[in-house]
Amino acid sequence: MKILDGLYGFIWQSASENNCNSFFIDGSKKILIDPGHRHLFQHVRRGLERVGLAPERIDAVLVTHGHPDHLETAGSFGPSARWAMSRIDYDFVLQYLGSRTEIPPPAFFLQEGDLAIGDTALQVLLTPGHSPGSVCLYWPQKKVLFTGDVVFSQSIGRTDLPGGSGKQLKESIARLAELDADILCPGHGDVVTGRENVKKNFKMIRDFWFNYL
Ligand SMILES: [Zn+2]
Repeated sequence: MKILDGLYGFIWQSASENNCNSFFIDGSKKILIDPGHRHLFQHVRRGLERVGLAPERIDAVLVTHGHPDHLETAGSFGPSARWAMSRIDYDFVLQYLGSRTEIPPPAFFLQEGDLAIGDTALQVLLTPGHSPGSVCLYWPQKKVLFTGDVVFSQSIGRTDLPGGSGKQLKESIARLAELDADILCPGHGDVVTGRENVKKNFKMIRDFWFNYL
């Protein structure tokens, strides 16, 4: 699914099996956000095929947080692909999986602040709550916000998993709501398009879901 020039969403639609949405930024460097489960890697492969790319052409893989449905295939791209996630969530994954993880160590860590990859200028926001080191990615030039499992269309991320915190999630979402975003690209479910719809979505979450955090 083409979202706008240079941005594609590989939206996960199966109701019987869980996987994340993956997003592809087609800049001077090819960026893949949240590659998903290992046994469902064909989802990314097919999505890239539709835009004429093989996974080996990806330059950077950015992972919003350390849950397997987002992370597992971080190391499954070509030898030139560099992958990254937050140090907090990486340490958390190691703590849980130890040497059982089959994922190679990240090439770099995502930390709060600017991140330029080729001609794509992103901002990394540390947004804990769903996981201790969740990050969201904001692309100011296109006013696109990639939210991982922090916030969805009409819903919010779970806080009952290890390292989750309702208080932190609330603070993280409040921070995201301040950004000037025309498109919200969440880790699961529908993409929210249009500035007013993004605003409405944050308002609905504040009015309804914040009562449960
Ligand atoms: Zn998650």
